Amino acid sequence: MTEGTDRPRIIEYAGNGFVITWEPARCRHAAECVRGLPTVFDNTRRPWIVTDGATVDEVVTVVDRCPSYALGYRTADGRWRSAPAGA
Ligand code: SF4
Repeated sequence: MTEGTDRPRIIEYAGNGFVITWEPARCRHAAECVRGLPTVFDNTRRPWIVTDGATVDEVVTVVDRCPSYALGYRTADGRWRSAPAGA
């Protein structure tokens, strides 16, 4: 039996009422996220995603603008975003 080895690497960042997911291989560095919510997304910092100080709605609004679907989220109230199948 062959083990699946092609699963994408997805990093999770837990916040208050939400989890941000980031798939580095998809990131096009368009910086929509950095411009939209610089307190959370700062590519000059490590870790570059810090979930403190952002509301769920702010995160959802900005992550929804990520053109490559590198960013996704799950929220405690049931909202989610992930890359569409085959994208
Ligand atoms: S908006 Fe998406 S593609 Fe652009 S830098 Fe952020 S995570 Fe990467």
